[in-house]
Amino acid sequence: MPKFVYDFTEGNKDLKDLLGGKGANLAEMTNLGLPVPPGFTITTEACRHYLAHGSLPDGLQDEVDAHLAALQEEMGKRLGQADDPLLVSVRSGAKFSMPGMMETVLNIGLNDESVEGLAAQAGDERFAWDSYRRLIQMFGKTVLDIEGDLFEDAIEAAKDARGTKDDAGLDAADLRGLVATFKGIVREHAGREFPADPREQMDLAIKAVFDSWNADRAILYRRQERIPVDLGTAVNVCSMVFGNLGEDSGTGVAFTRDPASGHQGVYGDYLQNAQGEDVVAGIRNTVPLPDLERIDKTSYDQLMEFMARLENHYRDMCDIEFTIERGKLWMLQTRVGKRTAAAAFRIACQLLDQDLIDADEAARRVTGDQLAQLMFPRFDTAEIEDVTLLTKGMNASPGAAVGKVVFTSERAKELAEQGEDVILVRRETNPDDLAGMVAAQGVLTSRGGKTSHAAVVARGMGKTCVCGAEELEVDVKAGRFTAPGGVVVGEGDVISIDGSSGEVYLGEVPVMDSPVVQYFEGELDPAGGDELVQAVHRVMAHADGAAALKVRANADNPDDAARARRFGAQGIGLCRTEHMFLGDRRQLVEKLILAETAEERQDALDALEPLQREDFTGIFAAMDGLPVTIRLIDPPLHEFLPDLTDLSVKVALAGADASDQDRRLLEAVRRLHEQNPMLGLRGVRLGLVIPGLFSMQVRAIAEAAADRRRAGGDPRPEIMIPLVGAVQELEAVREEAEGVLAEVAAETGVDVPALIGTMIELPRAALTAGQIAEAAEFFSFGTNDLTQTTWGFSRDDVEAAFFSRYLELGVFGVSPFETLDRDGVGRLVRIAAEEGRRTRPGIKLGICGEHGGDPDSVHFCHEVGLDYVSCSPFRVPVARLEAGRAAI
Ligand code: PEP
Ligand code: MG
Repeated sequence: MPKFVYDFTEGNKDLKDLLGGKGANLAEMTNLGLPVPPGFTITTEACRHYLAHGSLPDGLQDEVDAHLAALQEEMGKRLGQADDPLLVSVRSGAKFSMPGMMETVLNIGLNDESVEGLAAQAGDERFAWDSYRRLIQMFGKTVLDIEGDLFEDAIEAAKDARGTKDDAGLDAADLRGLVATFKGIVREHAGREFPADPREQMDLAIKAVFDSWNADRAILYRRQERIPVDLGTAVNVCSMVFGNLGEDSGTGVAFTRDPASGHQGVYGDYLQNAQGEDVVAGIRNTVPLPDLERIDKTSYDQLMEFMARLENHYRDMCDIEFTIERGKLWMLQTRVGKRTAAAAFRIACQLLDQDLIDADEAARRVTGDQLAQLMFPRFDTAEIEDVTLLTKGMNASPGAAVGKVVFTSERAKELAEQGEDVILVRRETNPDDLAGMVAAQGVLTSRGGKTSHAAVVARGMGKTCVCGAEELEVDVKAGRFTAPGGVVVGEGDVISIDGSSGEVYLGEVPVMDSPVVQYFEGELDPAGGDELVQAVHRVMAHADGAAALKVRANADNPDDAARARRFGAQGIGLCRTEHMFLGDRRQLVEKLILAETAEERQDALDALEPLQREDFTGIFAAMDGLPVTIRLIDPPLHEFLPDLTDLSVKVALAGADASDQDRRLLEAVRRLHEQNPMLGLRGVRLGLVIPGLFSMQVRAIAEAAADRRRAGGDPRPEIMIPLVGAVQELEAVREEAEGVLAEVAAETGVDVPALIGTMIELPRAALTAGQIAEAAEFFSFGTNDLTQTTWGFSRDDVEAAFFSRYLELGVFGVSPFETLDRDGVGRLVRIAAEEGRRTRPGIKLGICGEHGGDPDSVHFCHEVGLDYVSCSPFRVPVARLEAGRAAI
């Protein structure tokens, strides 16, 4: 039969599965010789049995009896002993911390007799009756399921009767009266007496803690945090110590280092004459921990020694809860402490320097999310209280931006050219707003989710964006938006937007720059003294050395490419050529679409070709010697044409005076209109339907590569075909492209090899990857579209439409557009990778959807054995770090 109960002296910190985090760490401290109040832990296995069968496992009660007897022996008193009772707490403690989600009952062992004994022993009647009423209150609520407010109301009534506002204003007699009232509440609402038998109190409390594993809030928390449902909780039965026995008692929390900065020192808070719950409730002000030296030097010195011991032992920063009972220090809890992003990097390197951990472990101790946090400019929180919070939207692209409100792209450009900082506010953005987005410090939209155009483009540019701020009514024509409460904000008014929290403020909040970005930009020497920058530099160097995955960037202009390279990108994984067709060049695309003859079409293509060549030349130069994957045009053509409604209105209003050009345009817009454009004429389908379009792009690539080669450069083009679903599509385009490449080689006398490959972004492509690999030299997983088509979720609409409900219900803990869905989309990726490799061993495999910069997804890509991930330039350092961590 398994062992269900472990004395604190029997466990250790590695038994978290069995003893939960709290129990394992209490055991560890006990074995280190620290003063932990004696007790024992009932295992998660017992909980699992209880939850599965509705009864305690055979043998558990005998084990509890034996451990309780040993505990009573050790303490020299018995549970419920009339003249000097042993009191215990019964606390939950699962493997993963689930703060406040499960139950705890304190002061078990009190009844009408033993309360007198406690009063006599403590020499404090009020304390004893207060402890007793706390027991009945907690027990009533958690074990007997009585509405907590009934007890609270009774306390309020007692305070009113006494004429006090404070719990402390109630004396022993008042509390004795409350105990009677509470017992009445139990009788009335639970239909039974409060159990006077301490052992019954304990047994019922243990079951209640087990049951609380399945409390609604706990279930929801686990879904959201992706904690497995079947772990169960352990139960810790621990002898009580009291911090509320007078001025020589107290309770506190301590950190072995500053959790904000990582610096070593004495950090924490202490509250004299109080219990832990009083600290949480904030009833009285705590004093800083260093003051304890003045209050109780012996305990303080001991605590310092214990903290140093714990940190050396855990080889990490720890947080601690302690209580001093009449001058005796007790350690009640410890665990590896939570910390800020900056502290995580600093602490990892400090511990490395102290030889407590090695470089692999230092890299494990930080995360890509923490690095990302360090890269964004932030609002100075000290100043935030002076401004008005207007609303909260979705935190679409992190950072902090301040500027004058503008409502159009043109105005954004105008003001930016005059040196003004602006925030572009739109209902939603479209490709036309790109110039305005580039000019603005940040973007705010009232519609659209985290994969809306505004969000994706802003993230790509590393630009702050708050989207889907639905409370705002944006009136572009009138040049103003209205916030809740009727606050009207007009063009030129200054707002501040926080892309990390989604908050929007009226007025200017001061922004602090990130030294970490200055370092990645090469503007800050890591040896220059900034401890944080040094730490980031050291961890990154180690991660780069360990990584198996390469990291590329999604970039479609030379500036972004150059920045990505400074940030450590090893090439470009996705150059979206359609981004090169915007702005003034839209006219040319319009001509192409409107062309009625082959000649007109060729003229339009001929005009576009040199412009494309120029773009590619710049990008090849910025990425000299590194691969550049250029994706041929992808989105449906109507995206380059005016809006159907706007144009219809314009033509209708002009009547007979409407220009011929506008009429033809309207006809084309109607002709190209699709109900489901994302599933329509886009990607490879466009290339097969519009003669010459792909050839023009391939020619531009080949000529640009030849130019670079002649100029002494080392261009490495890779030509990528989007939205392929069948090998036949790819074969047709491939033949055309190879023809053009051969032509250009003959014309220029320079033969620059170019790989030809495809994106895998449709389930059919993934499932027939073995065939597709016959015609593809590389695959790049377009997981934005692959997620969209696998789930059948429109990437432009769903987040605003129903994702918040899905997240609430725990259908998923995080949007599958943010973190790759391993079970569904991931399975397709695995199949395609395996079957692609089977057909073409050595086929290059990468990912270029938004997931390429997401930590969890990077680990998945490492596990599948992809060659690289590609992400927005700003995310490159995050992906590098995670690629390294995945390999360690
Ligand atoms: C994708 O679908 O994942 C992708 C990278 O292409 P786009 O986002 O341009 O559709
Ligand atoms: Mg795509």
